[in-house]
Amino acid sequence: MSTMPRRKFIQLSAVTAAAYLATPGREVRADDLPHLSPDDPMAKAMKYTHDTSTVDAGSRTNPAADQNCANCALVQGADGDEWRPCQIFPGKAVAANGWCSVWAPKA
Ligand code: SF4
Repeated sequence: MSTMPRRKFIQLSAVTAAAYLATPGREVRADDLPHLSPDDPMAKAMKYTHDTSTVDAGSRTNPAADQNCANCALVQGADGDEWRPCQIFPGKAVAANGWCSVWAPKA
């Protein structure tokens, strides 16, 4: 059995995890991130949804029906992943089939 006090172990673990996630040059992986909740105040403000098919086309900034997070210029991570980081919602993963009012076409 370890002689390290439990509290100290938890503190060291938290610091190590934070340092790992904040390492410059380290690619952010959606697996590391909690999923963005549509109930998050920022998500609500941007009309984020996990399912783009539920969006009223009249509320889209562009009328294209095929807008989703996977084809947005602001999404990060790997093509084909179900959940991906997004520049608008740092620290959270968005659904590839999601959408928000900030959607922008890839160049
Ligand atoms: Fe999805 Fe783009 Fe909105 Fe991010 S900015 S949530 S990738 S539509």
